[in-house]
Order: sequence, then C-alpha cells, then structure tokens
Amino acid sequence: MATYQDRFPNNSPGAYYVDDQCIDCELCQERAPEVFHRDHEMAHSFVFRQPETDEEREACEDALDSCPVDAIGDDGPHGDMTRKNPCQLPGIVQQ
Ligand code: SF4
Repeated sequence: MATYQDRFPNNSPGAYYVDDQCIDCELCQERAPEVFHRDHEMAHSFVFRQPETDEEREACEDALDSCPVDAIGDDGPHGDMTRKNPCQLPGIVQQ
C-alpha cells in the first residue's frame, strides 16, 4: 500500500501520487501516459499531472491496480473533491 508521507516530491499535488517503493517498471506510464511520467535522473515514476477526465481517472485506477509493488496511492489530500467527501480527506477539518 502506498504511503502519502513517502511520496516523491515531484508528484503533482492531488489525489494520485507515487511513493518511494517504485521499482521503475514503467507499467503505470503505459497504462496512463498522460498522468504518469518517468523521472529519468532518479529512475522512478511520478504523477506529472492529476487526471482530468473520467477516462484518465479510469486509466489511473488501472495503473494503481496493476502496480506490482503498490507504489501508487490515490488518497492525497488535495484530490478531486468529486471523488470523496472532502470532510473525509486528511488535513481538512470539519467545522
Ligand atoms: S507501476 Fe508502480 S513500480 Fe512500476 S513504475 Fe509505476 S509506480 Fe513504479
């Protein structure tokens, strides 16, 4: 399971991220090339930008389910508010 605290710093802010378990297999880049790119210098994937359409979101979920080491998370705190109740997202305090 991916851990938000262990994400790479170059992930685009939002729900999806790649953490430091990534083994650079490049599968996520094949499944969702608009979202996942490779950091060639550090040899790992990262979220270049968050998904913007249902199709891209489905591709991200496919990548998440396919990652062999569970290095992709979708529980980042500034994600798509339509996907989850914002009050359940970490870092958002209900008043
Ligand atoms: S599928 Fe997982 S292990 Fe493979 S490059 Fe993407 S994040 Fe890294």
